[in-house]
Amino acid sequence: MRITGVLEVTLSKPLPEEAKSKVVEVIQYLNNVYLKRGARDPVEGAHISSFELKEDKIVFVLETGSRVRIDEASLRIRNVLAQELGKNFRIGIRGLRLIEPKIVLEGSISISLSLPFVKNIYSDGTKTVVELSELSESDLKKPIFLRLLRLVEEKERRYRWGGKGEHWVLYKKSAEKTVKFFDDPNKILEDIGWIKRVSIGQWIYTPPLTHILNALKRLFLDEVVKPLGFDEATFPKMYPLEVGLKTGHLKGVINSMVFASLPKTYNIAEFEPLIDYMYVMDTAPPEEVQKYLEPPSYFLCFAQCEPFYWFFENEILDDAVLPIKWYDMSGPSFRWEAGGLHGIERLIEFHRIEIVWLGKPEHVIDIRNKLMERYEYFLDKVLDLEWRFAWVTPWFYEQAGVVEEKLELDINTPGTIDIEVWVPYKGGRDDKKAWLEVGNISIHGTKFTEPFRIKHNRGEILWTGCSGFGSERWLVSLLAQKGFNPDNWPKKFLEYVKKEPFPRSVLTVTYPKTKDGKEFLKNIIKMFEGLGNA
Ligand code: ATP
Ligand code: ZN
Ligand code: MG
Repeated sequence: MRITGVLEVTLSKPLPEEAKSKVVEVIQYLNNVYLKRGARDPVEGAHISSFELKEDKIVFVLETGSRVRIDEASLRIRNVLAQELGKNFRIGIRGLRLIEPKIVLEGSISISLSLPFVKNIYSDGTKTVVELSELSESDLKKPIFLRLLRLVEEKERRYRWGGKGEHWVLYKKSAEKTVKFFDDPNKILEDIGWIKRVSIGQWIYTPPLTHILNALKRLFLDEVVKPLGFDEATFPKMYPLEVGLKTGHLKGVINSMVFASLPKTYNIAEFEPLIDYMYVMDTAPPEEVQKYLEPPSYFLCFAQCEPFYWFFENEILDDAVLPIKWYDMSGPSFRWEAGGLHGIERLIEFHRIEIVWLGKPEHVIDIRNKLMERYEYFLDKVLDLEWRFAWVTPWFYEQAGVVEEKLELDINTPGTIDIEVWVPYKGGRDDKKAWLEVGNISIHGTKFTEPFRIKHNRGEILWTGCSGFGSERWLVSLLAQKGFNPDNWPKKFLEYVKKEPFPRSVLTVTYPKTKDGKEFLKNIIKMFEGLGNA
């Protein structure tokens, strides 16, 4: 990002002849020292490329990088001039004007023309130029202007990131395991009627599937979550828009969020025309229903950790309470997935055990490390799966100016570890598509403690972390490697499945739907005989 513009400084009186050499001296100091301060690479600092003295004005032609941006550079110039001219010649600064400010960005980037300060935008495919309107000294200090610059900078960074959502590096993987099952568990679950699709990405799970899902969740809690001292909380599953503004989800993933609206009124009488219509027409057209609703003011649970930051918003924490370790499994998450919906492995409504923690950076890193160890033990020893961990850096964690290669594997910085399990029905181990992301562990740094203003009583930095255990995905990957015969299931898992009698499957005149499905279900019922009454 390059920013150019002409800065006009108006003085309280015309500059006397003897002050001119002082101005030259000041400019040398600015160019060599002060305008480079804070920029490791001087090109990312600011530079005065020429200047002109005009009676009571000094006019500077400026070019800056992204470290000392033109707003900051203008104020630094102002301050140094005020000090030097004030002290030596009793001349003050009347005002600043930044004329024809222009931002030149790498690549073809689109920015809304309706934003304040944005006058014009054009691009030749390799560069984008954003022309801003003239700025006064107070404009330069406005939060709106600073946020505009941040937005533009972020768009450029995203462009450089090359459209990739994240940067993936293998961190650790298990030994190869013998796998004897190669079918798609999603398809089998549907065929045998343990799940029934009721809407896009939504299924009803019958008692047998619920039973094994619960067994897996309990096993996970007992082997991973509870030994590390996490306590259960209950989080809401619908959040006001402000929460999504602060977490950043509204700005980052609004295209995959599901929203909720309140009725315009509580008075049922006002709904009468709609009710009459539904009565007679026996349809509920969404366009009609919409007329009776407020615009959406909530979004449905997306990341499931949102309420954790929301709870601690504006709170001041002391050492006695830190670190805080909670988990929530009180309800579903919702995601609008454009494509690739598949059985219970990519859903619109899914279930997750969300683990959250808050503390000083060393706490947060230590908890993540312990959690990672337990996950490894759980995957490898308890479930005996073939798994791998990847260090993924979402584009928004990229530090400006840090090149990609340097990002690798410093796992003690904010970022995410994805947990992936091989699902043989999708392909061989070498096939990237045959690895299913079942969960992740993230360190956020101050990404949430800053916007939610979560503070420490002695001003120490607080970080957060979270980890999502996507229950359906874990079960699919377990079934994908072990199959449906309980004899081949990991011992501990089977023990948890056996803790309660196995519930009955639905086998009736019209259900499961196909002949093959019915036959398969009968086989399954036989295999499960020892466990109860399938
Ligand atoms: P993917 O790349 O597969 O879409 P993601 O990166 O969107 O996954 P996260 O945002 O990291 O997933 O969500 C955390 C966990 O929630 C995932 O690891 C997964 O277990 C689960 N999850 C996410 N989206 C879905 C979905 N649509 N259906 C089922 N589980 C999901
Ligand atoms: Zn989370
Ligand atoms: Mg996704």
